[in-house]
Amino acid sequence: MNQGRALITGGAGFLGSHLADALLAEGWNVVIVDSLLTGRRSNLAHLENEARLEFLEQDICQPFDVGKVDFVFHFASPASPEDYHAHGIETLQAGSIGTFHALEIARKYNAKYLVASTSECYGDPLEHPQKETYWGHVNPVGPRSVYDEVKRFTEAVTVAYRRYHNVDVRIARIFNTYGPRMQIRDGRVVPNFMRQALTGEDLTIYGDGSQTRSFCYVSDEIDGFLRLARSDEHMPVNIGNPNEFTILQCAQHVLKLTGSASRIRHEALPQDDPKQRRPDITKARELLGWEPKIGLETGLRLSLDYFKNAVAHESTVR
Ligand code: UDP
Repeated sequence: MNQGRALITGGAGFLGSHLADALLAEGWNVVIVDSLLTGRRSNLAHLENEARLEFLEQDICQPFDVGKVDFVFHFASPASPEDYHAHGIETLQAGSIGTFHALEIARKYNAKYLVASTSECYGDPLEHPQKETYWGHVNPVGPRSVYDEVKRFTEAVTVAYRRYHNVDVRIARIFNTYGPRMQIRDGRVVPNFMRQALTGEDLTIYGDGSQTRSFCYVSDEIDGFLRLARSDEHMPVNIGNPNEFTILQCAQHVLKLTGSASRIRHEALPQDDPKQRRPDITKARELLGWEPKIGLETGLRLSLDYFKNAVAHESTVR
């Protein structure tokens, strides 16, 4: 990929900020646009003196123009179930109006484009593992629909800009990813279990814990994005770790790693919570030569110091 100037919408978020680090390391100039609705300036604090980074606090649903860019990475959206429930309308707007704005920038400057889509496009999947060719099983009016449906719409707009305007697009379908910089109260399972284990609270398992997820460590995920960015694939590509765990197993891993005496408490399973999720990554393997290297135990260990620190400084990290 020729280095140039890259725009990252949502660059103050968990994945966006790691992507900014990776692009800067590759020699890019980076401009971040983030409304800070769920992103945090603290995710970029270590880049305070980086002359190649610009930051603009801006809602992407309002018109904006950051000048000429060579690549648009569209990552702006609330992404945890708690965040998109709390900000349902903003989530729908970021994925629809915000996506049009991001694509118009790519079109105007003839920039390449990569959008963060999601395994939620598959909903509560009836096909397992999920291949990119699976159309999904989504409740269009359920509580998760503000996220699932707008991400499906995002994909539709993105391929339309390719078909009608010949924009050079890429679509990453992101599966559960974890690591440093996740907010410890964003409600997702890894930060919840880590926080609970480190503070001696009960680990809250929703339902009986037999539902599955496949967890990808953040550095593997970012490597997948960069490879996809360099490729010429315009249709969706799953970027996730195919190692599948029940939520109960995930809790047990966290308890073992932290040596915590916390107990497990079962709570009600949220409506439409997917029962199983695992990417088929054949396409990414063959097309991008990509596959994740870091297993759950290692990834949790690599994240432990961050979570310990975040728990210790809880009042300042939110
Ligand atoms: N979950 C859980 N306890 C928690 C948080 C989440 O049992 O404290 C479950 C949740 O019901 C789901 C899975 O863990 O089945 C993953 O949830 P998360 O919010 O991390 O992401 P999702 O894959 O549902 O978007």
